[in-house]
Amino acid sequence: MRALRLPGWKSEPELVEVAEPTAGPGQVVVRIGGAGACHSDLHLMHDFEAGTVPWNPPFTLGHENAGWVHDLGAGVTGLEVGQPVAVYGPWGCGTCARCRVGVDPYCENPAAAPVPGGGGGLGLDGGMAEYELVPDARHVVPLPEGLDPLHAAPLTDAGLTPYHAIRRSWHKLPPGSTAVVIGVGGLGHVGVQILKATTAARVIAVDTRPEALKLAEEYGADLTLVSGEATAQEIRGATPGGRGADVVLDFVGADATLRLGAAAARTVGDLTIVGIAGGTLPVSFFSVPYEVSIQTTYWGSRPELIEVLDLGARGLVRPKTTTFSLDEAVDAYRKLQDGSVEGRAVIVP
Ligand SMILES: [Zn+2]
Ligand SMILES: [Zn+2]
Repeated sequence: MRALRLPGWKSEPELVEVAEPTAGPGQVVVRIGGAGACHSDLHLMHDFEAGTVPWNPPFTLGHENAGWVHDLGAGVTGLEVGQPVAVYGPWGCGTCARCRVGVDPYCENPAAAPVPGGGGGLGLDGGMAEYELVPDARHVVPLPEGLDPLHAAPLTDAGLTPYHAIRRSWHKLPPGSTAVVIGVGGLGHVGVQILKATTAARVIAVDTRPEALKLAEEYGADLTLVSGEATAQEIRGATPGGRGADVVLDFVGADATLRLGAAAARTVGDLTIVGIAGGTLPVSFFSVPYEVSIQTTYWGSRPELIEVLDLGARGLVRPKTTTFSLDEAVDAYRKLQDGSVEGRAVIVP
Protein backbone atom coordinates (compact mmCIF):
# COMPACT_ATOMS: atom_id res chain seq x y z
CA MET A 1 0.00 0.00 0.00
CA ARG A 2 1.02 3.64 -0.29
CA ALA A 3 1.89 5.73 2.74
CA LEU A 4 3.06 9.29 3.39
CA ARG A 5 6.09 8.85 5.60
CA LEU A 6 8.39 11.21 7.47
CA PRO A 7 11.85 9.80 6.69
CA GLY A 8 13.79 11.77 9.31
CA TRP A 9 13.80 14.98 11.35
CA LYS A 10 14.08 18.26 9.39
CA SER A 11 12.86 16.62 6.20
CA GLU A 12 9.87 16.65 3.87
CA PRO A 13 7.43 13.70 3.86
CA GLU A 14 7.60 11.12 1.06
CA LEU A 15 4.90 9.02 -0.57
CA VAL A 16 6.29 5.48 -0.60
CA GLU A 17 5.18 1.87 -0.97
CA VAL A 18 5.04 -0.11 2.32
CA ALA A 19 3.67 -3.50 3.42
CA GLU A 20 -0.02 -3.66 4.31
CA PRO A 21 -0.47 -4.19 8.08
CA THR A 22 -2.24 -7.20 9.59
CA ALA A 23 -3.94 -7.25 12.99
CA GLY A 24 -2.21 -9.24 15.74
CA PRO A 25 -4.04 -10.38 18.90
CA GLY A 26 -6.14 -7.54 20.35
CA GLN A 27 -5.35 -5.25 17.42
CA VAL A 28 -7.44 -3.71 14.64
CA VAL A 29 -6.56 -2.61 11.10
CA VAL A 30 -8.63 0.36 9.94
CA ARG A 31 -9.14 1.16 6.24
CA ILE A 32 -8.64 4.92 6.23
CA GLY A 33 -11.52 7.11 5.06
CA GLY A 34 -9.96 10.38 6.20
CA ALA A 35 -6.69 11.51 7.76
CA GLY A 36 -6.41 15.14 8.88
CA ALA A 37 -3.28 17.19 8.19
CA CYS A 38 -2.41 18.93 11.44
CA HIS A 39 -0.34 22.05 11.89
CA SER A 40 1.72 20.15 14.47
CA ASP A 41 2.93 17.87 11.64
CA LEU A 42 4.71 20.91 10.21
CA HIS A 43 6.56 21.28 13.52
CA LEU A 44 7.45 17.56 13.28
CA MET A 45 8.90 18.10 9.81
CA HIS A 46 10.72 21.37 10.36
CA ASP A 47 11.39 22.09 14.04
CA PHE A 48 11.74 18.80 15.92
CA GLU A 49 15.10 17.08 16.23
CA ALA A 50 16.50 14.07 18.07
CA GLY A 51 15.59 14.50 21.75
CA THR A 52 12.62 16.86 21.26
CA VAL A 53 10.24 13.94 21.87
CA PRO A 54 10.97 10.38 23.06
CA TRP A 55 10.54 8.84 19.58
CA ASN A 56 12.01 9.21 16.12
CA PRO A 57 11.18 8.88 12.41
CA PRO A 58 10.67 7.07 10.13
CA PHE A 59 6.91 6.62 10.52
CA THR A 60 3.73 7.24 8.53
CA LEU A 61 2.20 10.65 9.29
CA GLY A 62 -1.44 11.26 10.26
CA HIS A 63 -2.66 11.32 13.90
CA GLU A 64 -6.26 12.34 13.12
CA ASN A 65 -7.94 9.33 11.55
CA ALA A 66 -11.22 7.60 10.84
CA GLY A 67 -12.31 4.85 8.47
CA TRP A 68 -13.80 1.38 8.48
CA VAL A 69 -12.76 -1.76 10.39
CA HIS A 70 -10.77 -3.86 7.92
CA ASP A 71 -9.12 -6.63 9.94
CA LEU A 72 -9.77 -7.80 13.51
CA GLY A 73 -7.05 -9.54 15.53
CA ALA A 74 -7.68 -12.59 17.70
CA GLY A 75 -9.76 -11.85 20.78
CA VAL A 76 -11.23 -8.55 19.59
CA THR A 77 -14.96 -8.40 20.30
CA GLY A 78 -17.61 -5.72 19.85
CA LEU A 79 -16.43 -4.55 16.42
CA GLU A 80 -17.36 -5.77 12.93
CA VAL A 81 -15.47 -5.66 9.66
CA GLY A 82 -16.82 -2.75 7.58
CA GLN A 83 -18.04 -0.80 10.61
CA PRO A 84 -17.25 2.98 10.47
CA VAL A 85 -14.93 4.01 13.30
CA ALA A 86 -12.75 6.83 14.57
CA VAL A 87 -9.26 6.20 15.92
CA TYR A 88 -8.52 7.67 19.35
CA GLY A 89 -5.07 9.10 18.66
CA PRO A 90 -3.04 9.20 21.91
CA TRP A 91 -1.95 5.68 22.84
CA GLY A 92 -1.00 5.24 26.51
CA CYS A 93 -0.11 2.13 28.50
CA GLY A 94 -3.77 1.26 29.10
CA THR A 95 -3.40 0.30 32.77
CA CYS A 96 -2.23 3.38 34.74
CA ALA A 97 -4.74 5.55 36.61
CA ARG A 98 -4.95 8.10 33.76
CA CYS A 99 -5.36 5.52 30.99
CA ARG A 100 -8.02 3.67 32.99
CA VAL A 101 -10.24 6.76 32.91
CA GLY A 102 -9.47 7.28 29.21
CA VAL A 103 -6.96 10.09 29.58
CA ASP A 104 -4.18 8.51 27.53
CA PRO A 105 -2.42 11.84 26.69
CA TYR A 106 -1.33 12.03 30.32
CA CYS A 107 -0.36 8.35 30.67
CA GLU A 108 1.79 7.92 33.77
CA ASN A 109 3.62 4.83 32.58
CA PRO A 110 4.69 5.90 29.08
CA ALA A 111 7.47 3.30 29.03
CA ALA A 112 4.73 0.63 28.79
CA ALA A 113 2.85 2.40 25.96
CA PRO A 114 3.24 1.31 22.31
CA VAL A 115 5.43 4.39 21.94
CA PRO A 116 6.15 6.73 24.88
CA GLY A 117 4.07 9.90 24.67
CA GLY A 118 2.90 9.35 21.11
CA GLY A 119 0.59 7.30 18.94
CA GLY A 120 -0.20 6.63 15.30
CA GLY A 121 1.42 9.37 13.23
CA LEU A 122 3.49 10.38 16.26
CA GLY A 123 6.29 7.86 16.46
CA LEU A 124 4.26 4.93 15.12
CA ASP A 125 2.61 4.56 11.71
CA GLY A 126 -0.44 6.81 11.36
CA GLY A 127 -3.33 7.19 8.97
CA MET A 128 -1.88 8.84 5.87
CA ALA A 129 -1.99 5.50 4.11
CA GLU A 130 -4.60 3.11 2.84
CA TYR A 131 -4.61 1.22 6.15
CA GLU A 132 -3.59 1.92 9.74
CA LEU A 133 -2.69 -0.64 12.39
CA VAL A 134 -4.24 0.28 15.75
CA PRO A 135 -2.32 -1.61 18.45
CA ASP A 136 -5.24 -1.95 20.87
CA ALA A 137 -8.96 -2.26 20.05
CA ARG A 138 -9.82 0.17 22.89
CA HIS A 139 -8.58 3.02 20.66
CA VAL A 140 -11.21 2.21 18.01
CA VAL A 141 -14.44 4.15 18.65
CA PRO A 142 -17.56 3.27 16.59
CA LEU A 143 -19.06 6.24 14.75
CA PRO A 144 -22.58 7.23 15.72
CA GLU A 145 -25.32 7.17 13.08
CA GLY A 146 -25.08 10.20 10.78
CA LEU A 147 -21.31 10.65 10.85
CA ASP A 148 -19.00 9.40 8.07
CA PRO A 149 -15.22 8.86 8.37
CA LEU A 150 -14.31 11.93 6.29
CA HIS A 151 -16.12 14.25 8.70
CA ALA A 152 -15.21 12.22 11.78
CA ALA A 153 -11.45 12.30 11.15
CA PRO A 154 -10.89 15.99 12.04
CA LEU A 155 -13.02 15.56 15.14
CA THR A 156 -10.39 13.24 16.68
CA ASP A 157 -7.88 16.09 17.09
CA ALA A 158 -9.12 19.39 15.59
CA GLY A 159 -12.40 18.66 17.41
CA LEU A 160 -11.23 16.82 20.51
CA THR A 161 -8.42 19.21 21.46
CA PRO A 162 -10.57 22.39 21.58
CA TYR A 163 -13.43 20.39 23.12
CA HIS A 164 -11.22 19.31 26.02
CA ALA A 165 -9.87 22.84 26.44
CA ILE A 166 -13.38 24.35 26.47
CA ARG A 167 -14.96 21.62 28.60
CA ARG A 168 -12.55 22.22 31.48
CA SER A 169 -13.61 25.90 31.50
CA TRP A 170 -17.38 25.29 31.18
CA HIS A 171 -17.96 26.49 34.76
CA LYS A 172 -16.55 29.90 33.79
CA LEU A 173 -18.82 30.24 30.75
CA PRO A 174 -22.37 30.88 32.04
CA PRO A 175 -24.81 33.14 30.17
CA GLY A 176 -23.36 36.66 30.16
CA SER A 177 -19.79 35.46 29.87
CA THR A 178 -17.33 36.05 27.03
CA ALA A 179 -14.96 33.57 25.40
CA VAL A 180 -12.14 34.59 23.07
CA VAL A 181 -10.68 32.34 20.38
CA ILE A 182 -7.25 33.48 19.19
CA GLY A 183 -6.31 31.85 15.88
CA VAL A 184 -9.14 30.60 13.67
CA GLY A 185 -7.27 27.78 11.92
CA GLY A 186 -7.87 24.04 11.86
CA LEU A 187 -8.58 23.88 15.60
CA GLY A 188 -9.81 27.42 16.26
CA HIS A 189 -12.72 27.34 13.83
CA VAL A 190 -13.95 24.15 15.50
CA GLY A 191 -13.41 25.83 18.87
CA VAL A 192 -15.88 28.55 17.84
CA GLN A 193 -18.49 25.89 16.95
CA ILE A 194 -17.94 23.99 20.20
CA LEU A 195 -18.33 27.17 22.26
CA LYS A 196 -21.60 27.96 20.46
CA ALA A 197 -22.87 24.37 20.77
CA THR A 198 -22.01 23.78 24.43
CA THR A 199 -22.09 27.18 26.17
CA ALA A 200 -24.10 30.41 26.19
CA ALA A 201 -20.97 32.58 26.10
CA ARG A 202 -20.49 35.44 23.63
CA VAL A 203 -17.71 34.36 21.30
CA ILE A 204 -15.03 36.74 20.03
CA ALA A 205 -12.68 35.42 17.34
CA VAL A 206 -9.28 36.99 16.65
CA ASP A 207 -7.00 36.32 13.69
CA THR A 208 -4.67 38.18 11.34
CA ARG A 209 -6.43 36.78 8.23
CA PRO A 210 -9.78 38.30 7.18
CA GLU A 211 -10.82 35.03 5.46
CA ALA A 212 -10.31 33.13 8.73
CA LEU A 213 -12.54 35.64 10.49
CA LYS A 214 -15.19 35.15 7.81
CA LEU A 215 -15.15 31.44 8.63
CA ALA A 216 -15.50 32.25 12.35
CA GLU A 217 -18.49 34.45 11.56
CA GLU A 218 -20.04 31.69 9.46
CA TYR A 219 -19.74 29.38 12.46
CA GLY A 220 -21.45 31.79 14.83
CA ALA A 221 -18.78 34.07 16.30
CA ASP A 222 -20.54 37.13 17.77
CA LEU A 223 -17.63 39.46 17.05
CA THR A 224 -14.48 39.09 14.94
CA LEU A 225 -11.36 41.21 15.30
CA VAL A 226 -8.31 41.54 13.05
CA SER A 227 -5.48 41.34 15.56
CA GLY A 228 -3.44 44.48 16.06
CA GLU A 229 -2.16 46.87 18.71
CA ALA A 230 -5.62 47.69 20.08
CA THR A 231 -7.11 44.17 20.15
CA ALA A 232 -6.98 43.68 23.92
CA GLN A 233 -8.79 47.00 24.43
CA GLU A 234 -11.33 46.07 21.74
CA ILE A 235 -12.05 42.79 23.50
CA ARG A 236 -12.45 44.55 26.85
CA GLY A 237 -14.67 47.17 25.21
CA ALA A 238 -16.96 44.41 23.96
CA THR A 239 -17.48 42.94 27.45
CA PRO A 240 -19.91 44.38 30.05
CA GLY A 241 -18.19 47.13 32.02
CA GLY A 242 -14.94 46.50 30.14
CA ARG A 243 -14.20 43.65 32.54
CA GLY A 244 -12.54 41.39 29.99
CA ALA A 245 -12.93 37.84 28.73
CA ASP A 246 -13.88 35.03 31.10
CA VAL A 247 -12.00 32.48 29.03
CA VAL A 248 -9.30 33.02 26.42
CA LEU A 249 -8.27 30.08 24.24
CA ASP A 250 -4.97 30.71 22.49
CA PHE A 251 -4.76 28.39 19.49
CA VAL A 252 -1.45 29.95 18.43
CA GLY A 253 0.67 30.11 21.57
CA ALA A 254 3.17 32.75 20.40
CA ASP A 255 4.60 35.54 22.58
CA ALA A 256 2.23 38.10 21.04
CA THR A 257 -0.94 36.00 21.36
CA LEU A 258 -0.16 35.05 24.97
CA ARG A 259 0.40 38.72 25.77
CA LEU A 260 -2.93 39.54 24.12
CA GLY A 261 -4.69 36.75 26.05
CA ALA A 262 -3.35 37.95 29.41
CA ALA A 263 -4.27 41.57 28.62
CA ALA A 264 -7.81 40.63 27.58
CA ALA A 265 -8.62 38.21 30.43
CA ARG A 266 -11.03 38.99 33.22
CA THR A 267 -10.11 38.64 36.89
CA VAL A 268 -10.53 34.94 37.87
CA GLY A 269 -10.66 34.04 34.18
CA ASP A 270 -8.87 31.28 32.30
CA LEU A 271 -6.10 31.65 29.73
CA THR A 272 -5.57 28.30 28.06
CA ILE A 273 -2.60 27.69 25.76
CA VAL A 274 -3.58 25.19 23.06
CA GLY A 275 -1.24 26.18 20.19
CA ILE A 276 2.32 24.91 20.25
CA ALA A 277 4.14 27.93 18.83
CA GLY A 278 6.25 27.82 22.00
CA GLY A 279 5.90 31.45 23.06
CA THR A 280 6.39 32.50 26.67
CA LEU A 281 4.50 34.82 29.01
CA PRO A 282 6.13 36.41 32.06
CA VAL A 283 3.85 35.78 35.04
CA SER A 284 4.20 37.76 38.25
CA PHE A 285 1.90 39.03 40.99
CA PHE A 286 1.41 42.26 39.04
CA SER A 287 1.52 41.12 35.39
CA VAL A 288 -1.82 39.33 35.01
CA PRO A 289 -5.30 39.99 36.45
CA TYR A 290 -5.91 38.45 39.89
CA GLU A 291 -6.57 34.70 39.94
CA VAL A 292 -6.34 34.26 36.21
CA SER A 293 -5.50 30.61 35.66
CA ILE A 294 -2.92 30.10 32.94
CA GLN A 295 -2.73 26.56 31.69
CA THR A 296 -1.60 24.40 28.84
CA THR A 297 -3.70 21.56 27.50
CA TYR A 298 -3.00 18.62 25.25
CA TRP A 299 -5.51 16.62 23.17
CA GLY A 300 -8.45 15.05 25.08
CA SER A 301 -9.86 11.93 26.70
CA ARG A 302 -11.59 8.94 25.12
CA PRO A 303 -14.96 9.77 26.79
CA GLU A 304 -14.64 13.31 25.43
CA LEU A 305 -14.04 11.92 21.93
CA ILE A 306 -17.35 10.05 22.21
CA GLU A 307 -19.02 13.35 23.18
CA VAL A 308 -17.43 15.22 20.26
CA LEU A 309 -18.51 12.51 17.82
CA ASP A 310 -22.06 12.92 19.12
CA LEU A 311 -21.89 16.68 18.47
CA GLY A 312 -20.60 15.86 14.99
CA ALA A 313 -23.30 13.32 14.22
CA ARG A 314 -26.00 15.81 15.23
CA GLY A 315 -24.51 18.52 13.01
CA LEU A 316 -23.74 20.79 15.95
CA VAL A 317 -20.01 20.67 15.25
CA ARG A 318 -18.86 20.20 11.67
CA PRO A 319 -15.27 21.09 10.82
CA LYS A 320 -14.81 22.76 7.45
CA THR A 321 -12.80 20.31 5.35
CA THR A 322 -10.74 20.61 2.19
CA THR A 323 -9.96 17.15 0.82
CA PHE A 324 -6.76 15.98 -0.88
CA SER A 325 -5.75 12.59 -2.30
CA LEU A 326 -2.61 10.83 -1.03
CA ASP A 327 -0.86 12.04 -4.20
CA GLU A 328 -1.70 15.61 -3.20
CA ALA A 329 -0.75 15.19 0.48
CA VAL A 330 2.65 16.89 0.21
CA ASP A 331 0.91 19.81 -1.49
CA ALA A 332 -1.70 19.90 1.29
CA TYR A 333 1.05 20.46 3.86
CA ARG A 334 2.56 23.16 1.65
CA LYS A 335 -0.80 24.95 1.59
CA LEU A 336 -1.13 24.48 5.35
CA GLN A 337 2.30 26.06 5.78
CA ASP A 338 1.38 29.19 3.81
CA GLY A 339 -2.02 29.50 5.53
CA SER A 340 -4.12 28.93 2.41
CA VAL A 341 -6.13 25.89 3.57
CA GLU A 342 -9.68 26.77 4.55
CA GLY A 343 -10.61 24.84 7.70
CA ARG A 344 -9.00 21.41 7.95
CA ALA A 345 -7.07 19.62 5.20
CA VAL A 346 -8.13 15.96 5.13
CA ILE A 347 -6.31 13.32 3.11
CA VAL A 348 -8.64 10.75 1.56
CA PRO A 349 -6.53 7.80 0.37
ZN1 LIG B 1 -2.72 17.47 15.77
ZN1 LIG C 1 -1.05 4.84 31.03
